[in-house]
Amino acid sequence: MVLRNWLVAGLAVLGVALPLVPVTPDYWIVLLNAIGLSSLVVIGLVLLTGVGGMTSFGQAAFCGFGAYATAVLTTSMGLSPWLTLPIAIAVTCTAAALIGLMTVRLSGHYLPLGTLAWGISLFYLFGNLEVLGRHDGIPTVPPLNIGGWDLYDNRAVYFIIWALVLLAAFATLNLLDSRVGRALRALRGGVVAAEAFGVNTRRAKLVIFVYAALLAAVSGWAFAHVQRAVNPTPFGLGAGIEYLFMAVIGGVGHVWGAVIGAAAVVLLEDRLQIILPALFGHSGNYETIIFGVILVLLLQFARSGLWGLALRFIPELERRAPAQKTAPTEAAPLPRRTPPRRGEPLLEVQSLQRNFGGLTAVKSLSFSVNAGEVVGLIGPNGAGKSTTFNLISGILPPSSGTIRFQGRDISGLGPRDVAAMGMARSFQHVKLLPDMTVLENVMLGAHLRGRAGMVSAILRRDRTEERRLRAEAERQLIRCGLADYMHVKAGALPLGQSRVVEIARALSLDPLLILLDEPAAGLRHGEKQALATLLDSLRDEGTAVLLVEHDMDFVMNLVDRLVVMDFGAKIAEGSPEVIHSDPKVLEAYLGGIE
Ligand code: ADP
Ligand code: MG
Repeated sequence: MVLRNWLVAGLAVLGVALPLVPVTPDYWIVLLNAIGLSSLVVIGLVLLTGVGGMTSFGQAAFCGFGAYATAVLTTSMGLSPWLTLPIAIAVTCTAAALIGLMTVRLSGHYLPLGTLAWGISLFYLFGNLEVLGRHDGIPTVPPLNIGGWDLYDNRAVYFIIWALVLLAAFATLNLLDSRVGRALRALRGGVVAAEAFGVNTRRAKLVIFVYAALLAAVSGWAFAHVQRAVNPTPFGLGAGIEYLFMAVIGGVGHVWGAVIGAAAVVLLEDRLQIILPALFGHSGNYETIIFGVILVLLLQFARSGLWGLALRFIPELERRAPAQKTAPTEAAPLPRRTPPRRGEPLLEVQSLQRNFGGLTAVKSLSFSVNAGEVVGLIGPNGAGKSTTFNLISGILPPSSGTIRFQGRDISGLGPRDVAAMGMARSFQHVKLLPDMTVLENVMLGAHLRGRAGMVSAILRRDRTEERRLRAEAERQLIRCGLADYMHVKAGALPLGQSRVVEIARALSLDPLLILLDEPAAGLRHGEKQALATLLDSLRDEGTAVLLVEHDMDFVMNLVDRLVVMDFGAKIAEGSPEVIHSDPKVLEAYLGGIE
């Protein structure tokens, strides 16, 4: 049996046995319960901050929503705690959705500052509302119960808390390993690429914001019934910072790191509160200072936290995808788009213009690409080629002019809608997600071809569809000559190959038109030939290609037609032979690249 399994088995036995054997001090159980309650909140933070890149200081306030909701309902209406749980969750999620709508659109440092702001506001709200007992809170909350039995015993509550923690952990792991999960994991640093493949990133941010709040609400709900009293103090900014601290110490981004971080902080705090006052001779919150020092040291020397440290010494802890080639996934192929008839106009660009301040990057540009055609867009550096791609794919809005795709005006549409119509692209500056495997990156390309949502991901009802998406991604990778790199982290690939991964990702969308921005840059001679063969086969299948490329030999042999740009405007258009001897083109290039 592998080490990992031994460890899991050992922890499971220990976890069940500890509260059952009478020799375990009750105080240990109290601490373990505190760890479990914190873990719930921190698992949410792992998703929010570690995966989604949104730092929140305000999670404790959502615990407060859960705690106060159940406290009010159980004391004033006599409802059972199990009945109030869904209500507490609903109340918190509604509040989180409203707060999230305002918060997730903030960017950079404004987002954590925003969470500070509402974290403080909610704390004072709890402390000032008459129905919530103001600063004294609600003193007589009933305990949890099972089948009429009131659970006053910490050991009984222990099992409920840790069942919730395991439920949350596995739900979150399932979620991360799914179609929605890939979209969520793209939020930190991959928003442009994700949107280009149809992910609604703002909605995805809101979803994890509410999800994290839900876990905090469950923690608060349990906390209220464990403490059998509720007051504002545990839901203030101090607690919010502590949760974030647990996430960072554990290794923000790992679900199990959340539990380890919670354990480390709860246990250390408990010890320090005894040791430090004795050391300094009088009482005070000295542990806060120590925590500050630890945080600085960790951020300096071990950014990935305790879980990251553990993985460095015992890599077997992580369940890994097989590093070597495995048999291809068996699944029914995904449905494909019906392609337009070869030669029909597919993309029509008319008088397209884009200004950046005083600079006109694209100037009154008109050209078209027909179904099944390979068109080259060439021109010296700075000619406006990449800007043209951004305009066509909806990443930038045009200043004026129209873009039609399959006859429909797409000039105002965003990248998601353009992608949904069957246009995929690669980026000149590669936009892969370095921490995801090559295969996962390419599966993100097929995002729009799946529909499984969050709930089916958590319940693992998405497996059939996942297999189909995976099979499709594998097929595209094999076709692009990357079969050996599927399970490698994308960040480990050399630049040339990353570009080919971007092509495989674009192909996974099942595009009618694929825009490639300098796909051959950084490729060796043999790899360029393989790429040329691939693009030829796309033409044979009827997929249109619009290609920006500096390698003239590569372009001239491949394309049906060339559009030449200089200073934002089209200076020539025609077959490679015609362009080859066009004096205007020669002149543009003499001053540009060799
Ligand atoms: P190419 O891909 O042909 O090398 P680009 O489309 O990247 O050229 O750039 C065309 C011109 O537009 C350049 O002068 C560039 O500096 C400018 N440009 C591109 N993007 C922006 C932007 N976001 N803001 C301001 N200027 C830009
Ligand atoms: Mg460019």
